[in-house]
Amino acid sequence: MISLEQLVRPNIWSLAPYSSARDEYSGKEAHTFLDANENPYNEPYNRYPDPLQRELKQRLSKVKGIPAENIFLGNGSDEAIDLAFRVFCEPGRDNVVAIAPTYGMYQVCADINDVEYRTVLLDEHYQFSADALLAACDARTKIVWLCSPNNPTGNSLDRDEMLKVLSRFEGIVVVDEAYIDFAQQPTMRTELAAHPNLIILQTMSKAWGAAAIRLGMAFASRDIIAIYNKVKYPYNVNLLTQQQALEALSDPFEVDKWVKTLLQERTRLMQAFRDLPCCEQLFKTDANFFLARMNDAQKIYDYLVDQGIIVRNRNRVQLCRNCLRITIGTRSENSELLAALRQYNE
Ligand SMILES: *Cc1c(COP(=O)(O)O)cnc(C)c1O
Repeated sequence: MISLEQLVRPNIWSLAPYSSARDEYSGKEAHTFLDANENPYNEPYNRYPDPLQRELKQRLSKVKGIPAENIFLGNGSDEAIDLAFRVFCEPGRDNVVAIAPTYGMYQVCADINDVEYRTVLLDEHYQFSADALLAACDARTKIVWLCSPNNPTGNSLDRDEMLKVLSRFEGIVVVDEAYIDFAQQPTMRTELAAHPNLIILQTMSKAWGAAAIRLGMAFASRDIIAIYNKVKYPYNVNLLTQQQALEALSDPFEVDKWVKTLLQERTRLMQAFRDLPCCEQLFKTDANFFLARMNDAQKIYDYLVDQGIIVRNRNRVQLCRNCLRITIGTRSENSELLAALRQYNE
């Protein structure tokens, strides 16, 4: 990896961050806070929340096995994705390289930040080759985007290929692990120590059942986290979110139970899809959804909408012609979907 200073935009590297009232105070125990122009009434909502979410990071550190100083927390993973562009990519000059198809937010954030977004098409098994990805990079490529398990395809990416990119690419490699809690493949978190150019994204939105609270995580080197902290909004994770996340983390066994149930339901649902006349192909998945190639995705999608059942139509996505992406729901929701599809006649 080339030095972090060479990768980060010069204005960000030399940025003097906003210093909040609570940042400046540190040290001795204090009990009277007359520093932040808050209202002394209406506890606890009157006070600004901890800008660095220290208590929450301590807890996450134990659950994830990662030191708190290697954790960034944001308003969903989406904040961490956008920050990667704002920290590393000079608008109008730098580019990023991503697999395709993948999660749509990388391209949206690239477009917002006026950063060229280059794609390398996956193969027919939705796998990628490190060589092809690296061939698309040039001296102005700052970030490579990987997503494993990938959305919308569902499969985990080949770990050896990811490691090859990590050791050969000189810039930042982001691995989005939003669905890792459902996966048989191990997390890349264990690679952080060996690869200072790695950023791993995880989220409370999927297995943790907390999409509404908006809490995303980035795991990376201490130096990258420090730059993220400098650029983020000072109070980017509100008090209610921090409290609710702590609550969720107090019972990780609940999450394990959900995951187990959802994986069982995934097996049942996919088994039943095999017998549907309108389903032509099922793709391997390591997530809480699967991709199914249908004989007419648009028609089936419209039919399901009429029945009040919404799935994701991926028909227009590269390599996903006639594909629907099905999220695993409760047992009764899944049964309702199956019953509707069994009633469907072309
Ligand atoms: C759902 C999803 C996320 C989650 O984003 P949040 O902003 O944390 O809700 C991130 N990455 C991928 C690939 C996803 O599918």
